[in-house]
Amino acid sequence: MPGVPAAPTALLGQAHATPAVDLLKALESDPGQGLPGGEAERRLEAWGANRFEHREAQPAWRRFLGQFNDPLLYTLLGVGTVKLLLGEPGEAWVIWSVTLINAVIGYIQEHRAETAIAALALAVRTEVEVVRDGLRQRLDSEELVPGDVVLLDAGDKVPADLRLLEARSLQVDESALTGESLPVPKGTAPVPSPSAVAERSGMAYAGSLVTAGQGRGLVVATGNGTEVGRISRSLAEQVNLSTPLTRKFRGFTRTLLQLVVVLAGLTFLVGVARGREAAEMFDGAVALAVGAIPEELPAIVTITLAIGVNRMARRNAIVRKLPAVEALGSTTVICSDKTGTLTQNRMTVQEVYAGGERLSLDRLWPGTEGRSGVADPLSRNVALQETLLAGLLCNDARASHREGLVGDPTETALLRAAETVGLDRRAALEDHPRRDAIPFASEQQFMATLHGDQRILMKGAVEAVLERCSHQLGADGRREPLDREAIETAVRAMARQGQRVLAFAIGRAPAEQERLVHGQLAGQLEFLGLQGMLDPPRPEAQAAVLACQQAGITVKMITGDHLETARSIATQLGLATGRPVRAVEGRDLEGRSEAELRQLARDTDVFARMAPLQKLALVKALQAEGAVVAMTGDGVNDAPALKQADIGIAMGKGGTEVAREAADMLLTDDNFATIEAAVEEGRGVYLNLRKTLAFVLPVNGGASMTILLGALLGLELPVTALQVLWLNMVSALTLSVPLAFEPRPPQLMSQPPRSPHQPLLSAGLVRRVLLVSAFYWVLIFGVVLGAESQGADLDLARTMAIQALVLAQVVYLLSISQVSKGSWQQWQQVPLLLGGIVTALLLQVVFSQTEWMNGFFDTEPLSSQQWLVCGLAPLAMVPVAWLSEKLCPTTGVAG
Ligand code: ATP
Repeated sequence: MPGVPAAPTALLGQAHATPAVDLLKALESDPGQGLPGGEAERRLEAWGANRFEHREAQPAWRRFLGQFNDPLLYTLLGVGTVKLLLGEPGEAWVIWSVTLINAVIGYIQEHRAETAIAALALAVRTEVEVVRDGLRQRLDSEELVPGDVVLLDAGDKVPADLRLLEARSLQVDESALTGESLPVPKGTAPVPSPSAVAERSGMAYAGSLVTAGQGRGLVVATGNGTEVGRISRSLAEQVNLSTPLTRKFRGFTRTLLQLVVVLAGLTFLVGVARGREAAEMFDGAVALAVGAIPEELPAIVTITLAIGVNRMARRNAIVRKLPAVEALGSTTVICSDKTGTLTQNRMTVQEVYAGGERLSLDRLWPGTEGRSGVADPLSRNVALQETLLAGLLCNDARASHREGLVGDPTETALLRAAETVGLDRRAALEDHPRRDAIPFASEQQFMATLHGDQRILMKGAVEAVLERCSHQLGADGRREPLDREAIETAVRAMARQGQRVLAFAIGRAPAEQERLVHGQLAGQLEFLGLQGMLDPPRPEAQAAVLACQQAGITVKMITGDHLETARSIATQLGLATGRPVRAVEGRDLEGRSEAELRQLARDTDVFARMAPLQKLALVKALQAEGAVVAMTGDGVNDAPALKQADIGIAMGKGGTEVAREAADMLLTDDNFATIEAAVEEGRGVYLNLRKTLAFVLPVNGGASMTILLGALLGLELPVTALQVLWLNMVSALTLSVPLAFEPRPPQLMSQPPRSPHQPLLSAGLVRRVLLVSAFYWVLIFGVVLGAESQGADLDLARTMAIQALVLAQVVYLLSISQVSKGSWQQWQQVPLLLGGIVTALLLQVVFSQTEWMNGFFDTEPLSSQQWLVCGLAPLAMVPVAWLSEKLCPTTGVAG
């Protein structure tokens, strides 16, 4: 592209060993100004986006062959070969074709599930903060180009390979790249070549996570040019479809296979001993093996989970780890953040307290008391002026002409409050230019700034600020002893109204000091005042909390905020029903015995001023109580609690990349109601799995019982191996798939959560499977014997039995499906279900009425009278289905 020279690749390859100035020169960038926007766009077009080009982990053919890596398929391939050797090439081909069709279907389904999940993971964009044209701005990380200057903060994921220009207590977790699990400190000095990636302390590599500090780095490589891009594929592309449930099913089918091999051997021996032909009994043994094993189950479980993942995505919950879908359905406790999740994160300052006065912000509007310019209380109360000015100066929010006020809502609220009373930010910053800052971090609960006139300003949680104050500023501008009691009374009064209260303080630094040091803030500051802001609860959160309670799920609030503020919001949200909200502070969890901690965890609704490690202890205590815990988190140090929780939930909008990496699920709208929606979908998935089992297993049970009993009783086999193979294929393809798409029944959230110890194949479900299997067995034998007694030959009798069986399956399917449960949602389901049934019936017509199928499967065309018999016999299924619903209902997740 004209105007954009090629990237200086040789030099960039040695970025770690090159002084930053040389790289800046080579990339025509500037640490303070960054790239000009136009140049960045040209580079983006010429050098490409900062994304990993998709490379499959394995070629498609390999993954296809992987489908054959299944004991049952080996068995079938082997049986085909035996048939060929026995001189029955036709049958061999049918067996092989069916095996192939099974593998193709398995491959397509798994591939679709995989790409759908991978696409979702990639759809979550990472934003980065860069400097371009001298301005800080947030960009999609894909838009980064070499030469960009990126700002790093604790909790960020490093978006590209960076040569560090500035590092302030910067620590980076590079485990994804180097395997080193401890965070490593970073600096700006070059490291001579040759050196291993782990030794290059002047670089921050794409994919690693900033665990502490801040930094500024120059992009030297993007996309596939980065270290991680070169050595492997992006982490997000690695989708693991295996979950505890799919593993259990694979184990189950394997054990079943062993059992079936023994039974098949027995069938063969007993049959031969009873004088039947060896070839026929071999057929019988194969039919038993094929019929008994639900080989399609693991694939169906995967599809059902993948459909759940898609449905959750439509409701703003992005599942990062597939097992979370299963766990969501059994959630018993949700521990949620307050700010932004349960509340709107739209803060407005309501009250200010300073110089012993507590005033509502409305009273401070210019002109409120008949004057223009500055309102009265402001001019008479110096502490009030200073409190509002501190809110303006000790603040990282900024005005952007495109987006309005940008930044942390707490800070934008303070800016608005200051502007409301007539303070001008630009003028204030000119009078007191900022030299340095310690940005806000949840762990320390304050932010501090150092200004040109040597003033140090601090704002933060009341406790964090007060513990650093020795005096206070009076309304008359004089220094006074600290009146802790009066301040705390004001804080409580404001917090009880649900206000988030921030305290402000001022200090002085020695002349010429350029940097703020933590220790300098201890004990010497002067308290200025308080500002209280309201952040109303989300209306939808209120409804979602109620829905959770009706579903037997306890909701607990975990917050960094003040206890009284949190209690007030929790009361508004109805977190405790019929009793006052029980609230404790994080420090109340310290020094407790395990039993006390468990009790406290169980009985408390609100945990305020929680530190990340306390969150971890809380999750563990709840789990020890037998709870299945979903926990939200957004900070760098929340990662251990998110990993420990059964479902770790991070925020897609706010929150750090570190938390997102650790989470099982992301909320794209940061909304509590989305967690409730995801739980509901999780329950839906579980129910659909139960429905699938209730449908599929009797097909296998019926077919295998028929053959086994036939052999044991010395009867002619009522179905052949090939016919069973066909039956399985038809029902897997057409009848059981719609069950994975079943809509959720409306009553799902009015039931208690299922016990995490309840196996999917519960006692009720086993009874149901046995009942329906027995019915299929009676039906098959009944039709075969009945037809033979009417003079039909064996092939015709078998054909009729199979047709009756498929029709009975259709009746049974309808009884399980939501369609028969009479809710409005049934209509969405009808086309798919009908499509499945019609396809099954068409296939069955082809199966018996076409000559070539007759040749393959030894079937015979049926007369209309025979069709009628096949159509009427399955009506006996109606009472059986009714009874099985009584034994084990398919309307809920328990039983
Ligand atoms: P949640 O965990 O529910 O999201 P939270 O947002 O209140 O709660 P933190 O962000 O950890 O939790 O904030 C803890 C406390 O730190 C707040 O109660 C407030 O007093 C103070 N605080 C919050 N934001 C800032 C900020 N930008 N600058 C200074 N102090 C802040």
